[in-house]
Amino acid sequence: MGKTMQKGAQDLSLQIPGCVHHSVALHELIHALGFVHEQTRPDRNQYVRIQTQNIVSGMAHNFDVYSRTDADTLGLPYDFGSIMHYRSDAFSSNGRPTIVPTTSEGRNFESKMGRGEKMSNLDIQKLKKYYSCS
Ligand SMILES: [Zn+2]
Repeated sequence: MGKTMQKGAQDLSLQIPGCVHHSVALHELIHALGFVHEQTRPDRNQYVRIQTQNIVSGMAHNFDVYSRTDADTLGLPYDFGSIMHYRSDAFSSNGRPTIVPTTSEGRNFESKMGRGEKMSNLDIQKLKKYYSCS
């Protein structure tokens, strides 16, 4: 993970303004604080459908769902706007979506998934809740 981030940061700092670099760093920081990708939470099948046929061969494990004992949703709603959510075309082998929202809220968010530059309100809430800051 550290390796990937370092490489990304170097590439990005040469080509793209700091906000993108910042969002990558923020995403990695939230991993370090103990959080998994939003689309791997235990209840994700109620919100998105994974299109396995569009995933690059050998990469499907990135879409594995955590069990309730391994990942706690903290009673907070699924967050399509999370900085921990993948893009809809993450690990796509053919440009087609690998993650398709199945709720109306999610469909409105489809083009924005995984592209946020800062924490969503729910990201902030989950950090506060997990670390008992609220
Ligand atoms: Zn990540």
